[in-house]
Amino acid sequence: MSLTEAQRAEIAAHGQETFSTRRPTVAALEAMLYAPQEVLDHGFLRVIDYMGDDAAIVQAARVSYGRGTRKVSEDAGLIRYLMRHRHSSPFEMCEIKFHVKLPIFVARQWIRHRMASVNEYSARYSILDSEFYLPDPAHMAAQSEVNRQGRGEILAPEAAAEVLDILREDAMRTYRDYERMLDGENGYGLARELGRINLTLNTYTQWYWKIDLHNLMHFLALRIDPHAQYEIRVYAEAMLKILHAWVPTTAAAFEEYRRGAVTFSASMMAVVRRMLAGEVVEQAGSGLSRREWDEMMATLQAPTP
Ligand SMILES: Cc1cc2nc3c(=O)[nH]c(=O)nc-3n(C[C@H](O)[C@H](O)[C@H](O)COP(=O)(O)OP(=O)(O)OC[C@H]3O[C@@H](n4cnc5c(N)ncnc54)[C@H](O)[C@@H]3O)c2cc1C
Repeated sequence: MSLTEAQRAEIAAHGQETFSTRRPTVAALEAMLYAPQEVLDHGFLRVIDYMGDDAAIVQAARVSYGRGTRKVSEDAGLIRYLMRHRHSSPFEMCEIKFHVKLPIFVARQWIRHRMASVNEYSARYSILDSEFYLPDPAHMAAQSEVNRQGRGEILAPEAAAEVLDILREDAMRTYRDYERMLDGENGYGLARELGRINLTLNTYTQWYWKIDLHNLMHFLALRIDPHAQYEIRVYAEAMLKILHAWVPTTAAAFEEYRRGAVTFSASMMAVVRRMLAGEVVEQAGSGLSRREWDEMMATLQAPTP
């Protein structure tokens, strides 16, 4: 993570400020506020602000006049019920705002999650930093032969080193050209909005990203999944820790009913029922395609996350 001294000082000063409020706060999240958590080689994620807590979900679900909470076990039971039956609007009552520094190719995947408010660093107005994501050799894998969207075997160390050299040199060369194109004295004084078009996709950008709790969990469910690309998954994993600190009861229900749950089709359920009745079912007579069958068996045999 590369923060300048001035940026660190600004974050520290912000963290010193305190306000008294009549609104509920969450001690565990207050302790994490503003502090950047390192992600990838130059990226970070930090919580800037939040609204609501577990009790706010219960309060909205009960449309209460006061705080709306009852016994801890009753509140947890209600949250688990809401999660189980996909009652989403009580979770939309809570919001959280992050400051994220991320490579542009990760941002392209992330921005597909439309139910959020985004304000990105303007490379039309400001000059992007000379920072590029370079994968750790442990993540330098070959194209997967079974999954067209995934990675397979890790590259041999010499091959990984050569690929890293290519990535580094290309990124640095285009950045040097970027600086030269923008430079009004020794270069061309090109507009920033045009100078940036030649930069590599591993260049870091940053944004403020605000989302409600329901859509945050939707994002997490999709991006923590092993099918998601490693480079976005690490951001989702950092956010999951924040979710647990912020709304522990909701996070536990999320682990139970979303992350740890699976979906079976009607035909898959018919197979499960036949198996439970003691029948030995083979793919050929199951009514499922080979792919569906393999997915179902992998799900049944997968360890719980
Ligand atoms: C593993 C993985 C692989 C992917 N691969 C590809 C790919 O190859 N190509 C590709 O283009 N994308 C790909 N995506 C992106 C994916 O298709 C979704 O665009 C992305 O995950 C955002 O999901 P979402 O639309 O549900 O989220 P959000 O945009 O946050 O929306 C949340 C929900 O709101 C509703 N909603 C939001 N906007 C609208 C709207 N305009 N109309 C109707 N309903 C709306 C929908 O119910 C939606 O589920 C991939 C995603 C994942 C996780």
